[in-house]
Amino acid sequence: MLPGLNGTTHAVFGVAALAGAALVAGADPPAYVYPAAVAAAWLPDVDNPRSTLGNGLSRSKNPILNVLSRPVSWVLRTTSFVLVRTVGHRTLTHSILGSLLFALPVYLFLADYPNLSLALVAGYASHVFADALNTRGVPLLWPVGRPFRLLPGGIKSGGAVEVAVALGALMAALYAILQLNPSLRALLGLV
Ligand SMILES: [Zn+2]
Repeated sequence: MLPGLNGTTHAVFGVAALAGAALVAGADPPAYVYPAAVAAAWLPDVDNPRSTLGNGLSRSKNPILNVLSRPVSWVLRTTSFVLVRTVGHRTLTHSILGSLLFALPVYLFLADYPNLSLALVAGYASHVFADALNTRGVPLLWPVGRPFRLLPGGIKSGGAVEVAVALGALMAALYAILQLNPSLRALLGLV
């Protein structure tokens, strides 16, 4: 099985998507929702047992952190196992249907936290978008249709082009974050 884009690339796309969506929507997301966007950007690959989240959270040296993360880790690993056994990798979680199944409860249960909802949905969507740039594409209309690619041929995983694309997304993320935070611009002497 070919590997997908790596976790760092997806994390950068998640941050860029949140900052970009916030700019467009006129929102002002607090710093603590950025990690939520990164986690959501890793979530679609939970159907791959070897992905960042599908593998469960890696064990840390801190025993207290281990106890706290174990239930989450167990849920992630079980979800991963069930998904890979039932629908396989890069199917449901990388489709419009899967994105809606993720977004719906977010909007229902986190209606009082619009910034967190935006972070989660933007992060998740950014993953599907980034994978659509990849050679393998994404099955947007799963369970029907063929994989969809945004670029002819697509970007190979793990190559120099992936690094360049990730750097481009990083620049876009930094630009959007600076636009969102005038105080940060002032701090850096950009105004
Ligand atoms: Zn993926």
